[in-house]
Amino acid sequence: MAMMGTHHKGQIVRPIEPPQHAAGACTETEMTTSVPTKTPITVAYGDGIGPDIMQASLDIMLAAGAQLDIETIAIGEAVYAAGHTSGIEASSWDSLRRTKVFFKAPITTPQGGGFKSLNVTIRKSLGLYANVRPCAAYAPFVATKHPTMNMVIVRENEEDLYAGIEHRQTDEVYQCLKIISRPGCERLVRYAFEYAIANGRKKVTCFTKDNIMKLTDGLFHKVFDEIGAEYPSLEKEHWIVDIGAAKMADTPEQFDVIVTLNLYGDILSDVAAQIAGSVGLAGSANIGAHCSMFEAIHGSAPRMTGQDRANPTGLLLGGVMMLNHIGQSQVAEKVHNAWLRTIEDGVHTKDVYKEGVSTKLVGTKGFALAVIERIGQEPQILKPVRYAATEPFKTLPTPVRPLAKKETVGVDLFVQWTGSPDELAQKLKALPTNTLELKMITNRGVKVWPDGFPETFCTDHWRCRFMNGGSTVALSAIAGLTAAAAEASIDFIKTEHLCNFDGEPGYSLGQGQ
Ligand code: NAD
Repeated sequence: MAMMGTHHKGQIVRPIEPPQHAAGACTETEMTTSVPTKTPITVAYGDGIGPDIMQASLDIMLAAGAQLDIETIAIGEAVYAAGHTSGIEASSWDSLRRTKVFFKAPITTPQGGGFKSLNVTIRKSLGLYANVRPCAAYAPFVATKHPTMNMVIVRENEEDLYAGIEHRQTDEVYQCLKIISRPGCERLVRYAFEYAIANGRKKVTCFTKDNIMKLTDGLFHKVFDEIGAEYPSLEKEHWIVDIGAAKMADTPEQFDVIVTLNLYGDILSDVAAQIAGSVGLAGSANIGAHCSMFEAIHGSAPRMTGQDRANPTGLLLGGVMMLNHIGQSQVAEKVHNAWLRTIEDGVHTKDVYKEGVSTKLVGTKGFALAVIERIGQEPQILKPVRYAATEPFKTLPTPVRPLAKKETVGVDLFVQWTGSPDELAQKLKALPTNTLELKMITNRGVKVWPDGFPETFCTDHWRCRFMNGGSTVALSAIAGLTAAAAEASIDFIKTEHLCNFDGEPGYSLGQGQ
């Protein structure tokens, strides 16, 4: 297996952290580790089907010889009900900081305001920036239209619309901020390339919507091109996410590693898991510089609670990734091969059971017992996995780069207004704005002044762009504008500064501008 510190094009590609093996993929290298002494991990049994599938997964892993020193924490419904709006008690963070490895069953997120998603909180608080989601078919034993698909989605896990910064700005308009950072893109994209190299993958495909979001998605694409250039041995391609998603759903076998932003990756990995056979089959690793978390990609399936019916595979394969991560690769290999053999023998839970292919319908517990019975065996038709040793956890410091030369050249003043664009323009032009001049007004991004179309539908949310003929604008001039707007009873809701960075505009044009 190619390990970290690999040279590409004369440059040293520094490690981010050890590779995670794709749950559906195989590596050919011989194993070199022996099973270490017990590794402390934090375990949460979660909600809904969580306790059943966690017990089944742990039973299998321990029977295979996993050396785990388990600390259990409570998360989810009971903790929310006890008044912790984040779904986790303060003391549980101590366990996570201590063990740095979290094996987590799904939880139920309460509906409605006042509660934050615990999954997002954990990923972001612990800096788990890379979400690795392998999705492989197990044909002919699990029905799928895509028998040869074997892809891994590497999803950015902390940024994008999941920053969770939302505001109701006017009576009619609500906003969710999409935040994309260069360091966030860089470490995620590099992780995807390193993952591909370490796991013998051939191609990395980037999905963005940068034909529309030229700055945010554009940055992700740009970083993909920049970092990709350091990996000449890998094939690289970029698809606009809409047609890329359509291709992925139609011919997933054409994809190998997909790297993408948070929201696209969240949606696409569920699609990929489902078309591979069942959303119950896919595990997931959330990798950070300090901690990592391993889980199933599916949720708590509340309707199946307590019925001994859920497929524990997603969580178990998350556990296989965890065992690799903590250096227990021999156990990971044993568990994965026993699981493959169970699937091959036709011992199936209801979600994948198919008359004529399956030989025995089992519940969660029965499935776990069947896998345990097969520990030490390998599949005979499906390809057995061969996991090499993983190295101790390492991380790549984000490169320090010189600050760009930043020059403020204008400001967008957002206002709530129920009149016409022309009336608003008149009001704004009458303000004592010093050198700032009203250049344009847009409504939901479309230019409505000057020379707007009468057909354009307008809400009560207006973006009013002031500039200084291309010259620098002092922050005090912007403060003067907002003060003047307040004086004139203009209901402004926020400002966004228009800045050039090293001469390049850091703001988009209005639609139709
Ligand atoms: P879900 O993934 O829990 O279930 C959707 C459907 O998929 C189920 O009804 C079931 O038919 C099937 N399914 C899922 N897991 C299965 C398994 N192991 N075996 C067999 N079939 C399985 O999605 P949902 O119903 O939309 O969400 C339920 C709750 O889970 C929500 O509160 C949601 O917020 C939460 N959730 C949690 C996580 C997490 O903890 N990581 C992830 C996603 C959703």
